Amino acid sequence: MRPEGNPAARAVLDDVFEVTDRAWRGIGVIPDSGWRLSGRYRDHDAEHRFAVDGITTREPAACRSGEVLQGLLKPHECEAFGTTCTPRTPLGATMVSSEGACAAYYLYRRLDLSTPATPDASLEGSPVV
Ligand code: SF4
Repeated sequence: MRPEGNPAARAVLDDVFEVTDRAWRGIGVIPDSGWRLSGRYRDHDAEHRFAVDGITTREPAACRSGEVLQGLLKPHECEAFGTTCTPRTPLGATMVSSEGACAAYYLYRRLDLSTPATPDASLEGSPVV
């Protein structure tokens, strides 16, 4: 692995994409935080071809995933955690994916980090991926 990365792959990325502002669920727009297709590929860019500007995804009012994503709140500090929001009935993106902070906290019950984690056997075979 080289600090400069793979020059050939970087050249392809530089050709196909350009940096742009992106809106992140629960956080909002972060300048220069995402990519879009570069002008050479504009004809294939759904954002250019279709009227998708202004489409936003809103979390339910009870969901505080934006604060969780920013490290301002631990998942179990959300009032909905483990009650109205579980991996089987997720209210926000961070509970939907098994990689999400809320789902991971729920699955491994790491409410008290001094206590060894115990996976929730009831979620074996869960549709959460
Ligand atoms: S526990 Fe559920 S409702 Fe609360 S922040 Fe996480 S995803 Fe949102």
